[in-house]
Amino acid sequence: MADLLTRAEYQALAAAIDMPTNAFIDGTYRPAISGKTFTSTNPATGVALCDIAACGAEDVDFAVSKAREAFDDGRWSKLHPAERKDVLIRLAKLMTRNARELAVLESIDSGKTIYDCETVDIPESIHVIKWHAELIDKIYDQVAPASDNHIAMVVREPVGVVGLVLPWNFPLLMLAWKIGPALAAGCSVVVKPAAETTLTALRMAELAHEAGVPRGVFNVVTGSGSDVGEPLGRHMDLDMVSFTGSTVTGRRFLHYSADSNLKEVVLELGGKNPCVVLDDAEDLDAVAAHVVNGAFWNMGENCSAASRLIVQSGVKDALLERIKAHAREWVVGDPLDPQVRVGALVSPAHFKKVCSYLEAAQAETIHLGGKIIGEGFIEPTIAEVKARDAKLAVEEIFGPILTVIEVAHFEEAIAVANDTDYGLAASIFTANGKRALRGARALRAGTVTVNSFGEGDITTPFGGYKQSGFGGRDNSIHAHDQYTQLKTIWLDLTDTSDACAD
Ligand code: NAP
Ligand code: MG
Repeated sequence: MADLLTRAEYQALAAAIDMPTNAFIDGTYRPAISGKTFTSTNPATGVALCDIAACGAEDVDFAVSKAREAFDDGRWSKLHPAERKDVLIRLAKLMTRNARELAVLESIDSGKTIYDCETVDIPESIHVIKWHAELIDKIYDQVAPASDNHIAMVVREPVGVVGLVLPWNFPLLMLAWKIGPALAAGCSVVVKPAAETTLTALRMAELAHEAGVPRGVFNVVTGSGSDVGEPLGRHMDLDMVSFTGSTVTGRRFLHYSADSNLKEVVLELGGKNPCVVLDDAEDLDAVAAHVVNGAFWNMGENCSAASRLIVQSGVKDALLERIKAHAREWVVGDPLDPQVRVGALVSPAHFKKVCSYLEAAQAETIHLGGKIIGEGFIEPTIAEVKARDAKLAVEEIFGPILTVIEVAHFEEAIAVANDTDYGLAASIFTANGKRALRGARALRAGTVTVNSFGEGDITTPFGGYKQSGFGGRDNSIHAHDQYTQLKTIWLDLTDTSDACAD
C-alpha cells in the first residue's frame, strides 16, 4: 500500500497536475472534429478543472474505423500471446510508476476520497491488468470428441472491435475490468468514459501506448451518453459493447443492438443489495463494521453497495447501536484529506437526486444522520422503513443512505431480500453453517458473501442476476468469454489418395 501524503501535499499535487483534455484516437490526443468542448468540474469544490473534447458521431466513426484497421491488419490481434502479455505487464508497471498521479486525478475528477484511490482503486486496477496479462498465455482451446477420421477444434477468436461504455463511480477500475480481458484477447477498443470522469481513462490510453499497445487499438472518445454512447451502441461496424452503468441506460443498448447490427451486448447494471443479519450472527461488532463498509464505502456510489439491511428482530437494536458507533467514525469532507472516508457525490445533479431520498427518509425513522453537509456532501444516514415497498426500500439510491427493514425469521428475511428487480450482490450473517449455505443458495444474486461484505476479487466472476446484468460476467477467466467468440474448425482426415490414384 502506498504511503499516504498529507492533505496539503495532495492539494499541492492536484494544483500542479497535468490534465489530459482531448480524445485519444489512433495513438494520439485529438480535439473533437466539431471543435466543441465541455467543462469538467471538481465536485468537491465546484471549481472547473479543464475543458474536455465534446466528441460526437463523427469522432466515433473515426475511432471505430481506426480500431477496425488495427484489428484487421493484426498489429495486436495477431501478435503472439506472449508479446501481448509483455506489453500489458509493461502497462501495469507504468501504472505503478504513475500511481500517485492517477490517484489524484481520480479523486479531483470524481469526488472519491484520496484514501480509497490510493488504497483500492489504483492498486486494484494495476492488479487487474497484471492478472489478465498473466492469463494470456495460459488459456488453451479445445479438441472435441470425433471419429478417427476427423479432428474437430473449438478455438477462441477475439470478438473484434469493442465499445466499452463506463460509469463514473469507479472510473479507472471499471476501465481496467474491461480493457484487461479485451486487450488480452486481442480486441481493439473504443472507450467511452462517463463525461463526469474522463481523466484517468485518457491518461491510461497514453500509458498503454507508452507500454507498446499499437496505435488504433486503444481509443478513448470523450463526450456525453447521447453524443458518443448512442452512436457507439448503434454503430454498424462495432462487434460488441460491454457496458457498466444504470439499468435504464443498459436496456437502451439492447435496443441499439437490435436496431443496428446485432452486436454482442454485455451489461453490468444496478443493484439494491440485501444484507441479511440473523439473530444468531456472531461478533456483532464485526458485523457492524461490514455493514458500514458495505453501505457507505465510496459514498454508497457502488453498484454492489449493501443498501438494504434486513435484520432479525432479536438482534436489531444491539446491531444498530454498533453500526452507529462505526458509522460515526467515517469522516465526511475534503476528498484530498487522507483522514476522510466519505467524499463528495459525483455531480450536482446526482447530489440533488440523493437529496430527494434524504427527504423521503424524513418520513421514516432516522437512526443516524439525515443531513446535508454543504453542497455535494451528505452524512452517512440510516433510516428504518415501515412499508416494504417504501421508496427507500426498493430504489437504487447510489448515496450514503442505508435502509433498515426488520424481519421475524429466516424465511421472511430471504423473501424480503429477493423481493427486488435487481440481483447483483447479497450477504448473509449467521453462525449456523447450514442456514448460511441455504441462504446463499436461496439468495438470487450473482455474488453472495457469508459473514462478510465483499465483491469477491479478480479471480471470481462478477455480474448480476435479474435486471442487474445481461450477457456475461466481468472478472475471472470468465471475463474472457465476453471478448472472444468460439469457432469450430472441422477437419476431415479421410485418406482418399489411394482411391484417387486407382
Ligand atoms: P449511466 O447513467 O447509465 O451511465 C453509464 C454510461 O452510459 C456513461 O458513460 C453515460 O454517459 C452513458 N450513457 C448515458 N446515457 C446514454 C445513452 N442514452 N446512450 C448511450 N450511453 C449513455 O450510469 P452512471 O450513473 O454513470 O453509473 C451508475 C450506475 O452504474 C448505477 O446504476 C450502478 O449500479 C451501475 N454500476 C454497475 C456496476 C456493475 O458492475 N454491475 C458497476 C458500477 C456501476 P454520460 O454519463 O457521459 O452521459
Ligand atoms: Mg469529473
